[in-house]
Amino acid sequence: MQPYRNLIFGFVLIISLMTGLGGFSLFHLNNISKDVENIYNHPFAVSNAGQSIQTRIFAIHRDMKDVVLAKNPEQLQKILDQVNAQEQKVFKEFDVIFERFLGNKASIKQTYQTFIEWKRIRDEVIRLAVAGQTEAAAEITKGRGALHVDKLLSEVHEFVIFARHKADSFKTQSSENRDHSLFVVSVLSVLTLVISSFIAVNVIRRMSKAQKRLSQREYLIDQNIMIATLDKTGVVIDASNALCRFLDSTKAEVIGKPSNFFNNSDLQDLQAEQIWKTISTGKNWQGEICHINTDGLMFWANSRILPNLDDNFTITSFTNLLQDSTSKKLSITDKLTTLPNRRSFEEVLEREIKLSYRHTVPITLAILDVDFFKLYNDTYGHPQGDKALRMVADCILGCLRRPTDYAFRIGGEEFAIIIADQDIQKTQEFLDSIRGKVEALSIQHEQSAISKVVTISIGAYWTDGCIALEKNELYTEADKALYLAKTNRNQTIVQGKPSEPNAAINAA
Ligand code: GH3
Ligand code: MG
Ligand code: MG
Repeated sequence: MQPYRNLIFGFVLIISLMTGLGGFSLFHLNNISKDVENIYNHPFAVSNAGQSIQTRIFAIHRDMKDVVLAKNPEQLQKILDQVNAQEQKVFKEFDVIFERFLGNKASIKQTYQTFIEWKRIRDEVIRLAVAGQTEAAAEITKGRGALHVDKLLSEVHEFVIFARHKADSFKTQSSENRDHSLFVVSVLSVLTLVISSFIAVNVIRRMSKAQKRLSQREYLIDQNIMIATLDKTGVVIDASNALCRFLDSTKAEVIGKPSNFFNNSDLQDLQAEQIWKTISTGKNWQGEICHINTDGLMFWANSRILPNLDDNFTITSFTNLLQDSTSKKLSITDKLTTLPNRRSFEEVLEREIKLSYRHTVPITLAILDVDFFKLYNDTYGHPQGDKALRMVADCILGCLRRPTDYAFRIGGEEFAIIIADQDIQKTQEFLDSIRGKVEALSIQHEQSAISKVVTISIGAYWTDGCIALEKNELYTEADKALYLAKTNRNQTIVQGKPSEPNAAINAA
């Protein structure tokens, strides 16, 4: 969790810095925009209005000269109308100045007052002009009027200058704001860049480390774990090197071929059917498979096939995990016949007895012994005897069809069969059919006292699983039955206990 915590902290830091950067930029952009707005709304408007007033004062003063020089009443009235219009505009400009001026408004009032006072002088000039006293009127215009205009213009000039200064100060403030923003934004940007680069380098380094670890693990799996991926039809789409070594093949030879679950033994068809039945419903299959290499050597593996499902729980492929069990298998397998050996017999018998008692299902132990086998060896030689034993073993194995039936070679020419969950009558019939099949192999045995071919005697003991039995007890009882069978040979004797204490069925 520690690396993720650092990473999360790093990303949170970057996001905070970027948010800060954005927020700060917005704040200062807003300030700069306000400064510009201020310049436009206040000093700029006041300065414009002041200049406009100056122009109109000049115009009114010029019109006042024309008033003195007017030749008739109509001309006079026209000029007076012009003066009034200019005067109204000046008042409007004063309104703007009153509203927007950011300095001392008393000075504006003063100028406004001066403008009003000028009206009184102008009215006197008009009155004299209308009365025809043009000389006196001209005297006032040139004298008092001109002086008043100068005063008025200088007062207006003052607040125009003030407005210009104010505009300059806004401009300076705006420049300072811009410089400050640029500095902070640059610092934050560099900081974000440095931290982002640091985190990016860190992430890349960690990712490449993780990638390396994964590759190493993948290599170890490939070399040491027998694993294959099969498509939905059982065709191999990937296989590890370890599995290829086990199969004595190359990857190219394995990939693209139907796997048959890597089982090419006699049991492959039967097992493949079971496997498909299980895994096609989405369940796992587990069991032992046997692989025979090109030299005919047998290898065993515990196989576990797991369906791979997509998000909709549909099977997309299968994973087959295998574990080499050859050495274990060999330790419990008889070399001559490849049947499980005596050691395996002891283990399986103990387990099956317990299962039978736990689930109260019948169990039978049968011992099968070849009749007059010493004589066979003496007649045909030991190697021929081995061959005959292999044929008998294959015959016995070929008779077993249920997964709960087991066959073993437990000694020289002795075999054993464990049958679970079968009633005594069927057991008797089944065992006797095996005896018949061995006889039907017709392995010549001229010296046998009871037949011209190799025969076997079978002694078995059947119990219904209601009483806890020791494996030695069961073995002793089966051996007793064999002893009975050997009285005539080539016969099957099954004895049963305890639900049918006297159940002894003799068959010849
Ligand atoms: P019975 O009908 O009473 O069983 O007589 P038998 O001759 O079969 O019994 P016995 O126990 O006297 O002899 C068993 C013979 O089985 C002795 C031995 O030579 C032979 N035998 C045991 N193991 C092997 C083996 O691996 N290969 C061969 N060829 N013969 C074996
Ligand atoms: Mg024997
Ligand atoms: Mg024998």
